[in-house]
Amino acid sequence: MDKFDGMRKEDFPILSESVHGRKLVYLDNAATTQKPQVVLDAIVEGYSKWNANVHRGVHHLSQVATEKHEQARKKVAEWLNAAAEEVIFTKGTTDSINMLARSFGDAMVNEGDEIIVSQLEHHSNIVPWQMLCERKKAILKVIPLREDLSIDIEAFKEMLNERTRLVSVAQVSNVLGIVNPVEEIIHYAHAKHIPVCVDGAQSVPHLAVDVKKLDCDFLVFSAHKMYGPTGLGVLYGKKEWLDKLPPAEGGGEMIEHVRWDKTTYNVLPYKFEAGTPNYIGSYAFSKAIEYVQELGIEDIAKHEEELVEYIEERVSRLERVKIYAAGQKKAGAVSFNVYRADGGLIHPFDVGVLLDRQGVAVRTGHHCAEPLIEHLGVPGTLRASVGLYNTKEDIDKLVAALERAIMMLE
Ligand code: PLP
Repeated sequence: MDKFDGMRKEDFPILSESVHGRKLVYLDNAATTQKPQVVLDAIVEGYSKWNANVHRGVHHLSQVATEKHEQARKKVAEWLNAAAEEVIFTKGTTDSINMLARSFGDAMVNEGDEIIVSQLEHHSNIVPWQMLCERKKAILKVIPLREDLSIDIEAFKEMLNERTRLVSVAQVSNVLGIVNPVEEIIHYAHAKHIPVCVDGAQSVPHLAVDVKKLDCDFLVFSAHKMYGPTGLGVLYGKKEWLDKLPPAEGGGEMIEHVRWDKTTYNVLPYKFEAGTPNYIGSYAFSKAIEYVQELGIEDIAKHEEELVEYIEERVSRLERVKIYAAGQKKAGAVSFNVYRADGGLIHPFDVGVLLDRQGVAVRTGHHCAEPLIEHLGVPGTLRASVGLYNTKEDIDKLVAALERAIMMLE
């Protein structure tokens, strides 16, 4: 039997819950994934067996906690093919990008300089750069999309110039699920010695991401989107960059010595980790990574790709449904909308509520990507996003629920 054939659901206690009297069909994995028992156990174990603040204590529990936290960092480094000192623990993708915008922005960006993002970014990869540009009187440039909603690489190449300081793009769009050509983006940016930050929030959980192969300068992602706990994320940076950049936040842990006349900073990665870190979270996340490693990210990617294709195939058979960026290479998510016979859009919220009443959880709305949604010219979309535990049967239930919802709303 295929290792993904419904068997994995048993590892995730929440998936046996019912919603509105129906067994939960969870298709909102791009927003957050559910947690396997090994991750839940790790959280309970941490707080019940070895909870103590890390790095500062000589006592036993503090040493155990420190060891678990640093082992977790090594696990993340191994996962990304990075060095442990290049892995900075943050609160999540949003926090990672804000930190980078502050640190990189303070050191590297001046009036008239340019930062490049794309039209399809999550607000987390827009607003921190807008704030930086406002602070520094710099300019935020936006890579346009082609007709088929893919990133316009030719336009991007034209945008790179001697004022460009950084490019920051998502590897996978959280709305469309499209896998963006970040390798090409990195290639052309590096040809002009411009660093690239990859927003891996939607790619790291679904694809093998090797920072050395990718050659990105920075990579950010959230643990909670990869079966780990909330409140934890990663900012990976190439050592040569992290050495050069100033800390984004001050406080305990990030210092070497504090003097009234001059404070000196700690070594990497601690220079970027002010305050008590989420060491129980990092430990639990290392268990999530182990869980994913055991199944194999390549096999997970293949399984999810089949599911995404199956969603497109089944949903496109319904009448008056528009799938965005249909047929393009995707990872994890599909966005679509439903129309009435008179051509009017059925509001995605209305469809989403009716799906929920049938136990099917999808996301509706702008998905924190208003500029993209505006570009699509709709108030929002319905987004079905899969995780390793989803099955074709889940998709069949989604489609059956959609048929019923459409019948009621037409
Ligand atoms: N970037 C992308 C592409 C995302 O999909 C998300 C979350 O949906 C984020 C950034 C923000 O992640 P978080 O809310 O975990 O900080």
